[in-house]
Amino acid sequence: MPMVPKVDMSFAPDEARAITLEAVAPLGKEYVAALRQGFESRWTDYLPSTGKRAGAYSTGAYGVHPYQLLNFNGKYEDLTTLAHESGHSIHTWLSYGAQPYPTSDYPTFVAEVASTLDENLLVHHMLGRARDEAARLFLLGTQLDTLRTTLFRQTQFAEFELAIHEMAERGETLTGDNLSALYLKIAREYYGHDRGLCRVDDLVASEWTFVPHFYYDFYVYQYATSIVASTSLARGIREEAMRHETKRRDAYLRMLRAGGSDYPIALLREAGVDMTSSAPFDAAIAEMNATMDEMERILVRRAEQQKPR
Ligand SMILES: [Zn+2]
Repeated sequence: MPMVPKVDMSFAPDEARAITLEAVAPLGKEYVAALRQGFESRWTDYLPSTGKRAGAYSTGAYGVHPYQLLNFNGKYEDLTTLAHESGHSIHTWLSYGAQPYPTSDYPTFVAEVASTLDENLLVHHMLGRARDEAARLFLLGTQLDTLRTTLFRQTQFAEFELAIHEMAERGETLTGDNLSALYLKIAREYYGHDRGLCRVDDLVASEWTFVPHFYYDFYVYQYATSIVASTSLARGIREEAMRHETKRRDAYLRMLRAGGSDYPIALLREAGVDMTSSAPFDAAIAEMNATMDEMERILVRRAEQQKPR
């Protein structure tokens, strides 16, 4: 269920490209130029067509350039997908350009930082352009939902995944029924079912069956760690850009160029975020709270305006 009324926003691919280029401006001229070159050199297959696979992704070929597959339908979520995949593409472009083949591929732990950082820049850019409260509320709602699905929900998935492996280690049977019971128990804990905060229907028990990531060993937690890192890094880069400074941005771009030449924790530390401390997590939660606070302020104001006088 959407939390807030949907605002009809639609974008042609041209417009989406132009907005994405504006949104990533805090990352500097070189980053923007690389992305513009990609857009102009047809790295991306935009529109859905018969027989084309669903979803979106970015991939690269060493010595060539990144490629993007989208199913662009002109909605706001398609714009965020373009920003997300563009984050991956420029990561690939910079890393493949700077690294020899053996270290050109970057680990997942940093990959989803590059993509979610561009999404963060996009939503803040869009909030800066939003002229009315309805649009603002919609954008904030989208931002909150991104944090819910990427930070909160992926952590819930990770806890489920860890528990499955622990069951196997204890020699317990992994039947569908056992997994469903475990999944439902964790989902209910996360959503406060027993405390009456959110009702988690019995049918949610089988949700685990359609999450393909449970077949990739310990992948999901990296979405949560990535958005924690990128929220923290993006905030620093945005604030710095307003002061016309480039130190944080330069450190971040060095990390993108470093590809897979070091351990992810070390790469991220060089970029300015220490993932062994709770500071980046606190920064992400602060952004989530600030988003909710602003939504509440708007909703209260609107309720007051609607009161009969
Ligand atoms: Zn991604």
